[in-house]
Amino acid sequence: MLIFWLVLGTMVLGTMATSLQIPFTKDSPIAYSPGKLPLIITVPHGGLWEPSDIPDRTAKGSLLLADAFTKNIALDIADRITAHYNSRPHLIFQVRRRKVDVNRCEDQGVESDKGRLLWKEYHGTIEAAANNLLKEYPHGLLIDLHGHTHTHGMIELGYLLNTADIHEAKGLDERVLNQSSIQSLAQRHKSRIHPSDLLFGNHSFGEALQQAQIDSLGVVPSPKNPLPVSDALYFHGGYTVERHRSKNQRIGLDAIQIEMPQKARFSPTGRQALVESISQAVITMLDRYYLTRAKL
Ligand SMILES: [Zn+2]
Repeated sequence: MLIFWLVLGTMVLGTMATSLQIPFTKDSPIAYSPGKLPLIITVPHGGLWEPSDIPDRTAKGSLLLADAFTKNIALDIADRITAHYNSRPHLIFQVRRRKVDVNRCEDQGVESDKGRLLWKEYHGTIEAAANNLLKEYPHGLLIDLHGHTHTHGMIELGYLLNTADIHEAKGLDERVLNQSSIQSLAQRHKSRIHPSDLLFGNHSFGEALQQAQIDSLGVVPSPKNPLPVSDALYFHGGYTVERHRSKNQRIGLDAIQIEMPQKARFSPTGRQALVESISQAVITMLDRYYLTRAKL
């Protein structure tokens, strides 16, 4: 399917209306496909573009490898959701992680001036997409797509709560309400849904994903697997969801980091299963919590 992209150059947000709409190419520093749904899909580690004028990052401990196949999985998820609603989500990619890591804070993810410009542009693009979304809807959902290599092979969902946070039942509802990346969602529905149910119960994204699974992949947290085993085997959410989720208010974005297992990403049938199940689960979430039919 031919997809047209709005590709943004440096400092383009103020000139978005005059930007060219051109096909996405491997030379795009940041690609933004604007949407009409209350959904933003970000793919910070899926880009493969390696501009020669940005030096490789070399700081000790820096992660450099791209999350393989996540860009194409995101494209297919966006197409699948578009086919369902006849309306597109917002979709944003970036340059290769070796050059700049936009899912880290500026100090950790940037080692060059041009890398800094792209880092700022990436987060500015998400903010512009969120502002556009919030003109039409009071709330939106951001999903941040990644790939992991943990041997358990399940899909991991990150809400800014670590393993100890989730294991400790006492105070968990409060942590979902006040600390998590879905605190706005939890605040909006707390009169009828226990906040922890939005984390791993029957009202959670994990439950929607569990219901939508078309193969045997598991998902954590979810009703079947509510508790991550350890922080070493669970990504609980990074800079993107931390920065762009709504904080202490009922309006704004809820954010979920989705970590897809290597064994599924590395086979065509596995990627198809990821696309189908994540798309269906996102559609369930949009219908439950974000969309009023009159908008479509
Ligand atoms: Zn990643």
